[in-house]
Amino acid sequence: MMDDLKYGTRNKRGDWSPNQPAGTAPLFVFPPQPLKLLKWLPHYFLPYNVLFFLSALAWWHWVVPPVEVMQTLAWGWVLRLFAVNAAAVFLWYFAFELHLYIRRAQGNRFKYNGRFPADTPSDVFWFRSQNLDNFLRGFLSGVPIWTALEVGVLWAFANGHVPWLTFAGNPVWLAVLALLVPVIHEAHFFCIHRLIHTPFLYRWVHSVHHNSINPSPWSSLSMHPVEHLLYFSTILYHLVIPSNPVLALYQLHYAGFGAVPGHVGFDKIELGGDSAVDTHAYIHYLHHKYFEVNYGDGLIPIDRWLGTFHDGSPEGEARMNARYQKKKARLNAGRG
Ligand SMILES: [Zn+2]
Ligand SMILES: [Zn+2]
Repeated sequence: MMDDLKYGTRNKRGDWSPNQPAGTAPLFVFPPQPLKLLKWLPHYFLPYNVLFFLSALAWWHWVVPPVEVMQTLAWGWVLRLFAVNAAAVFLWYFAFELHLYIRRAQGNRFKYNGRFPADTPSDVFWFRSQNLDNFLRGFLSGVPIWTALEVGVLWAFANGHVPWLTFAGNPVWLAVLALLVPVIHEAHFFCIHRLIHTPFLYRWVHSVHHNSINPSPWSSLSMHPVEHLLYFSTILYHLVIPSNPVLALYQLHYAGFGAVPGHVGFDKIELGGDSAVDTHAYIHYLHHKYFEVNYGDGLIPIDRWLGTFHDGSPEGEARMNARYQKKKARLNAGRG
């Protein structure tokens, strides 16, 4: 058992916050910070990005049918793909849910919000249950839309409607593109996320995701179908940029499986003894808590550039409040 008070503080409500403010990646900074970059670089690959790339390879070899089959849209291979995607989503998200939220293996140590969603029923959710609501939305529209986009892109590749570069023929470009997959995701996610925070789209679409103020693993894919469509459409870049279907799958897995770290609700996952993995969930947790900060996940520091970054520190809090005051004053002036 680790002592989380060595790493942070807990307030009267039982919410824990880290001493170390949330940071953004040392990419896209001027002047460049080569030492910081070198220290950070392993995190760019481990563990998630390597895992999602390997899962894309595994799908290509064992799940996706031969090219001749994908040239024709047919229920057989499409439903098989859907079933495997659904099973994988279930296993991946449920692993976190079971360990941290059902067994509560580490209690509320390192938990940003001291309470557990299962203990606080609320009318905003289907069946008053955040877990059931989030779970059903993920499987009723999340995985179907994910699979539909996947099928469309594979079909386009199989029929030669878009360029299909091979790893043997274009190793350098495809390696560069593989490295850019998370960057493409971040840029796309920031744009669509900022878009659905505009008042009309927020009320109609994105409020569904934000019902979970205290996010847990199932919250990751709990979205309105329109948001699912926007979110998973990152795969479509691989129809425009010369690419390979494996990288298209990687882009999709990055979105689909990669949403869990931001919603896990814990800063560290204890591994036993004094070791733990950092989840890097704090940036997006603060987004769920305060809504109008941290539209991105920090790989590209767009929030810093636009002044919407909140690192969880008292200074970050003061910057956010000053911005809200200014906005309020502007709105009032407009009315007067
Ligand atoms: Zn979220
Ligand atoms: Zn949001």
